[in-house]
Amino acid sequence: MNEFVETLLDLPWQVGDPKPAYDVVIIGAGGHGLATAYYLATRHGITNVCVLDSNFIGSGNSGRNTTIIRSNYGIPESVAFYQHSLEMYQRLEDETGCWIMHSQKGQIWLAHSVSTARTEQTRALMNQAMGAKTDYIGPKEIKDLCPQIDLSGGGRYPVHGASYHHEGATARHDRVVWAYAQGALRAGVHVHQHTPVTGLLMDGDRVTGVQTSKGNISAGTVISAVGGNVTTVANWAGVRLPIRTHALQAFVTNAHAQEFAPIVSSNDLVFYVSQTPRGQMLIGAEYDRFASYRQATSFAYLQACSKKSITMFPFLSKLRIMRSWTGICDVSTDFSPIMGDTGVPGFMISTGWGTWGFKAIPAGGEQLAQLVATGSAPLIEPFGLDRFAKEAAMADPSSAGTR
Ligand SMILES: Cc1cc2nc3c(=O)[nH]c(=O)nc-3n(C[C@H](O)[C@H](O)[C@H](O)COP(=O)(O)OP(=O)(O)OC[C@H]3O[C@@H](n4cnc5c(N)ncnc54)[C@H](O)[C@@H]3O)c2cc1C
Repeated sequence: MNEFVETLLDLPWQVGDPKPAYDVVIIGAGGHGLATAYYLATRHGITNVCVLDSNFIGSGNSGRNTTIIRSNYGIPESVAFYQHSLEMYQRLEDETGCWIMHSQKGQIWLAHSVSTARTEQTRALMNQAMGAKTDYIGPKEIKDLCPQIDLSGGGRYPVHGASYHHEGATARHDRVVWAYAQGALRAGVHVHQHTPVTGLLMDGDRVTGVQTSKGNISAGTVISAVGGNVTTVANWAGVRLPIRTHALQAFVTNAHAQEFAPIVSSNDLVFYVSQTPRGQMLIGAEYDRFASYRQATSFAYLQACSKKSITMFPFLSKLRIMRSWTGICDVSTDFSPIMGDTGVPGFMISTGWGTWGFKAIPAGGEQLAQLVATGSAPLIEPFGLDRFAKEAAMADPSSAGTR
């Protein structure tokens, strides 16, 4: 990262090893772990908190995503949650004083058939009912918003219409992580990088702390926010989760003139594209179908995704793929997050963020902190782990960036 070096943040790290005991220990210094620590300290005065990461902050998916922020989800509870998060993002620069490069771009969600057009019309109506700004628009309006599009879809994927999510946005991912880290550190939270948690301390069926490469640490509450590694950590506490880990790949091209304004997703072709502040075209798709912890790019993915995106945006054929990367995603069986109690005293969880958790960082952190501090967080109540036992799964067909 060398852009805008003059605006990089001052992270006031504490030196030395972690203390032997904290009120709250959070495993994982991604966006969710750090945001939870930040809100515990700044909203609830709980500062005796330690965040531990086996690598560096933001080294997981919080520093690997395609940075899309939106709330046009498919079930009312999700729209309410993600709309709250989207609005928190809009205020985050003012709140933290950090420039996260937040940019409202609008998101076009293409329909290439009559049936997906109906899906997008339904999405727009349901979003409106829940307070998210989404309208159904026709081909002419799509072309006005994004002149680069081939509305014939190469003759094979004609554009029937789209839902247009006015407040769809992006923000620089590692800056979001740094903003929360700086705010938490300034409020007195300890953040220790390169400190893997290797096990949990148990007293009977209660989790009482963590084992780390720097010794044991006692904690009143331990929170797991470890992204794709959650199955291992939950297993230490004997918690079985309805989660499978899948790889998600993305890539950027070389820079193109700064003229591609919105984020565009295709429901039928299953890919999405936006332009970064550096001018690169940023392209993503669905996660790999098979469960895996492998963080490699496959040629098959690059080939398929390039072909689909060129079908809709012929100018992309003149660009080159410059960089590709992969993250491992904690995908729940109902495609919704899992937050809060695990049924094991002293052990809480923030997981199921799959391919959609970047946009949820502010609200996820805020609500989990509220739950720890007050014992109640109504906005995330539907997303508890106990929903699976109650047969109240939150099946959301619109959680991924392409559906
Ligand atoms: C290619 C890609 C594109 C994406 N695009 C989007 C998007 O456009 N919009 C969106 O909303 N979401 C997107 N996502 C999903 C989003 O990035 C994640 O859901 C989100 O970042 C998860 O944040 P987290 O804090 O839960 O996990 P992470 O950021 O993965 O952090 C987990 C941390 O835990 C640490 N850790 C793991 N095990 C241990 C251990 N034993 N001890 C200590 N530390 C440990 C890791 O080192 C890591 O730093 C995308 C993901 C990928 C991979």
